[in-house]
Amino acid sequence: MDYVDEVIARVVKENPNEPEFHQAVREVLESLRPVVKEHEDAYRRDALLERLVNPERQIKFRVPWIDDNGQVHVNTGYRVQFNSAIGPYKGGLRLHPSVNLGIIKFLGFEQIFKNSLTGLPIGGGKGGSDFDPKGKSDREVMAFCQSFMSELCKYIGADTDIPAGDIGTGAREIGYMFGEYKKLRGLFEGVLTGKGLSYGGSLARTEATGYGLLYITEEMLKCHGQDIAGKTVTVSGSGNVAIYAMEKAQQLGAKVVTCSDSTGWVYDPDGIDVAAVKEIKEANRLRLTEYKKYRPNAQYFEGRGVWRIPCDVALPCATQNELTLADAELLVKNGVIAVAEGANMPTTSEATDYLQKNGILFLPGKASNAGGVATSALEMSQNSERLHWSFDQVDAQLKEIMVDLYHHIDEAAKRYGEEGNYVDGANIAGFEKVVDAMTMQGIV
Ligand code: NDP
Repeated sequence: MDYVDEVIARVVKENPNEPEFHQAVREVLESLRPVVKEHEDAYRRDALLERLVNPERQIKFRVPWIDDNGQVHVNTGYRVQFNSAIGPYKGGLRLHPSVNLGIIKFLGFEQIFKNSLTGLPIGGGKGGSDFDPKGKSDREVMAFCQSFMSELCKYIGADTDIPAGDIGTGAREIGYMFGEYKKLRGLFEGVLTGKGLSYGGSLARTEATGYGLLYITEEMLKCHGQDIAGKTVTVSGSGNVAIYAMEKAQQLGAKVVTCSDSTGWVYDPDGIDVAAVKEIKEANRLRLTEYKKYRPNAQYFEGRGVWRIPCDVALPCATQNELTLADAELLVKNGVIAVAEGANMPTTSEATDYLQKNGILFLPGKASNAGGVATSALEMSQNSERLHWSFDQVDAQLKEIMVDLYHHIDEAAKRYGEEGNYVDGANIAGFEKVVDAMTMQGIV
């Protein structure tokens, strides 16, 4: 059997009930076939792919916490330290009831290549818990975060593993976790990113993933003779990534007509009022049903349906596998020209294949949402030198990183005869640096 097929089969066998992890491994290794073929003997001898798909360390722990009525709850915490070949582990903490080891492993695996693509010295990791912050009081969220950190703090540090936010982990949660880390370890250090500006956070980190998504999409369109200005854009999600993607898209002259949350979605033909979404979701933590109060002409629908709306550019920014084959078919029928992933793996494998076969420009999340982790790395740099950079300075670096990243994956795709296939380009370009570092560091 082919080496790539052998490793995929082993991953499926040895990690049962982890379909998202299988999906992520399969997608990356399929892209790497031509590279593996060139070096098959050396990679086999060094069990390189086996080492790549096995996390260096995975930690699972109990998180007991007490609610406002005195009731004790027990959640499960995870941190998967996947690969530290090019730098300390870096990746977010997801707090969502759907979290399990397979989800964290898929995210951690993707993170290795994403972090490599930023060009910055950060390895791949991910963590989180099946705790649901929704509907909890601030005190309950604090109780959970403190308990979570009381265990996690044993495994992380500014030079070893630097977690950040993700779904369900925003500025509030990062603040509580940072406070607990500092108390337990007695260290004021840049152990987390996404921190508040008053205690070491970076300007533009909040905006970075969404802004970065638009910078790379703009560059890709430009290189294909198109301009983002004047385009109609559909967005899913209304969290951190979606909000700042909408904001930057509008700043660049596009018209964003949809957004969604986990219960419904909004169609606003006049263009989404981003300030209203910020107030509803960021400030008041409410549902998008509120949106009509701000914009009576907009329509609200229960369930999912964003991809039904005709658009030039689609930006899935909510969660994994939210854009299916049926959605892709509809998007193509309605004339979409580009799909760029703001979320991690929001497009199913079948949908990705369909879009690519139909000539749609497709940017995978590990490239297009890398602006978040890249800016987290810039936050780490500022913490290390105990300095604070201006918003424009960070934003300019973010833009430069995203533009360079586009050309890097474009070049890698061309080098392997896959021009325009940014999935292969991203996987190959991300892999090349990691494999070089792994090889030079010996069998560890
Ligand atoms: P948030 O928690 O801020 O927002 C997530 C959004 O997606 C919310 O609108 C949420 O709805 C919706 N959502 C979550 N789960 C589901 C679901 N199962 N079905 C439908 N909608 C859902 O998260 P982020 O914006 O930070 O993250 C979004 C995606 O981007 C994730 O895939 C994350 O891994 C990825 N990402 C985030 C980065 C960052 O810097 N934040 C960096 C790189 C990637 P509701 O409001 O109802 O909860």
